[in-house]
Amino acid sequence: MKQLDLIPPVLHSLLSLRRPYGSVEEEIAGDTIRMHVHSAAPGIVWDKDSNGSMWAQVGEDNGVVFTAHLDTVHRTPGSQDLFILDLDQGMFIGAEHEGKETVLGADDAAGIFLMTEMMKAGVQGKYMFFVGEECGGIGSSFFVKEHPNFSANMVVSFDRRGTGSVITHQGGWQTCSNEFGAALAKALNQNGAGKLAYRTDDGGLYTDSREFAEIVPECTNISVGYFHEHTAKETLNLTHLLNLRDALLKVQWDKLPIVRVPAPDVIWDTGWMGRSSAWYDVPKDNTKELSDRVTTYINGNWDKVDAKLRQLLLDMESYLDEQL
Ligand SMILES: [Zn+2]
Repeated sequence: MKQLDLIPPVLHSLLSLRRPYGSVEEEIAGDTIRMHVHSAAPGIVWDKDSNGSMWAQVGEDNGVVFTAHLDTVHRTPGSQDLFILDLDQGMFIGAEHEGKETVLGADDAAGIFLMTEMMKAGVQGKYMFFVGEECGGIGSSFFVKEHPNFSANMVVSFDRRGTGSVITHQGGWQTCSNEFGAALAKALNQNGAGKLAYRTDDGGLYTDSREFAEIVPECTNISVGYFHEHTAKETLNLTHLLNLRDALLKVQWDKLPIVRVPAPDVIWDTGWMGRSSAWYDVPKDNTKELSDRVTTYINGNWDKVDAKLRQLLLDMESYLDEQL
């Protein structure tokens, strides 16, 4: 078996597309997902809004919502090639474009893949695929604005780096109770055949579930196995992704404790810019700007710096991200 054949077909298709917000490739990703799910579960009915975000209900509405995003941070749309790294920690996927390492886009193809697997297996819930997450939650904030009476118990996003986080706070705002986070981490670990080690993490920044946190009690984000997202160094731990998939299919989502009381986001909401202003208002100092500069430098100079400086830059980037 060729190593690339280890990548599940739908994941391979998604990772091969550079899909910035508003691109044809972002739309193709949506079509790919619908066709792929349809072949296994033809009964599932899809909805799509004018922005291009799409969603589908599997089974009765049970207050359980899952999200991932269709766009990537690539600046130019198109296609790219994948390669496999066989490392001690597992099989990793990386991407090349025009002969150079590039952003893989497992942020958030990994999350999309997990959701398609759950849909095919008939895991009950509402599955939402948003456009424009990387541009400040465009798809999700639009959806919430258009559906002010939207109701659910939980919104679980699959859009976090690493392999162990169940996010309780996004940008310093508690969007999911510690009880819910701990119960979900425990459920993942118990169903993970000894291969998963999730725990609560209050260091989240932003993803689509945050847009629901004023109206939905438990809004979280789960590590899906990608690393160094938004940089040419991005990789995806495929071994972890498949282990997580196996556990996700066994979690009893509607048994998780619903504790948090949704409340307005008083910390970040500036009113006049609207809901998604949360994304832009986070920096009260120059941390965001510095973080962007480091990321830009990494993306532009990856091939020119030696291994030690690379590591230092990546450490700086992670540190700055954690401050945001
Ligand atoms: Zn993402």
